[in-house]
Amino acid sequence: MTESIIRPKSEAFRWQGVDVHAYKQEGEAPFRDITRQTLFAEAGMAADLRYFEMAPGGHSTLERHDHMHAVMIFRGHGQCLVGDEVRDVREHDLITIPGMTWHQFRAAADAAMGFLCMVDRQRDRPQLPAQSDIEKLRALPHIARFLDT
Ligand code: MN
Repeated sequence: MTESIIRPKSEAFRWQGVDVHAYKQEGEAPFRDITRQTLFAEAGMAADLRYFEMAPGGHSTLERHDHMHAVMIFRGHGQCLVGDEVRDVREHDLITIPGMTWHQFRAAADAAMGFLCMVDRQRDRPQLPAQSDIEKLRALPHIARFLDT
């Protein structure tokens, strides 16, 4: 995909030759105010590196899948859910998301949050929670609070 080796930064958190996409297809899954940029997706590598950015109050989809994520918070702050853990996260924190683990990122109400996410090139499609999964998650008060943020 990359034609030139060096693609300079353009504006803040944007790069020349890197398109800003909708996070997912509208209606495919619940999410809010989040964009996706693919920074590296090279035929000769097994991993892709993407940059996702949420506006204040935005969030990614609550999902799980077999493949892992290796995440670095790149700007801003917010919270993430990984399994049954909810954590405050901020710039430069590292987050490993194991396979088949529910996860979601939420920007703080007063700050955008962007994160780098490394994934396998070949990967399974995300699964969305069934109502019963959501009920199980919501049974934990700290998760219910997180989901209602
Ligand atoms: Mn995911």
